[in-house]
Amino acid sequence: MSKMKANIDENLIKMSDLKSNSSDEREKDANYWKSKLTPEQYQVTREGGTERAFTGAYWSTKKTGTYYCICCNAPLFISIHKFDSGTGWPSFYESINSNAIRTRSDTSHRMMRTEIICSKCNSHLGHLFNDGPQPTGQRFCVNSLSLKFLETES
Ligand SMILES: [Zn+2]
Repeated sequence: MSKMKANIDENLIKMSDLKSNSSDEREKDANYWKSKLTPEQYQVTREGGTERAFTGAYWSTKKTGTYYCICCNAPLFISIHKFDSGTGWPSFYESINSNAIRTRSDTSHRMMRTEIICSKCNSHLGHLFNDGPQPTGQRFCVNSLSLKFLETES
């Protein structure tokens, strides 16, 4: 459980600035994101923060639909890949497709973790662990604050 406890740490994880030559979402500056996001969303998505477990909007959501990036609206996860991990964060065993999310190593807090970020805008989403259910064995541990859920009309 020590790993999960560490995730609750509210300290900011300073993300390195990623430069891009194209004028896409990854080039937007802090003022742009501050005007678009709530302070809580900004802290998590643009500064690598972590929301408190069991406080987010989606950790227990079981509805059918799609989870989008709160910053750029890119589709990231779908509900059929969501599972109850018991951690208090929305957890998925797979992303919506292999291009939606990128990973990079995160060595903050004296841990070796894999950070997950939105491919389109570099938003911090959460971390990836290898203790998820089959068929992938992976666990995408995501902050609700990084996501926007839209229910599928039935
Ligand atoms: Zn995004």
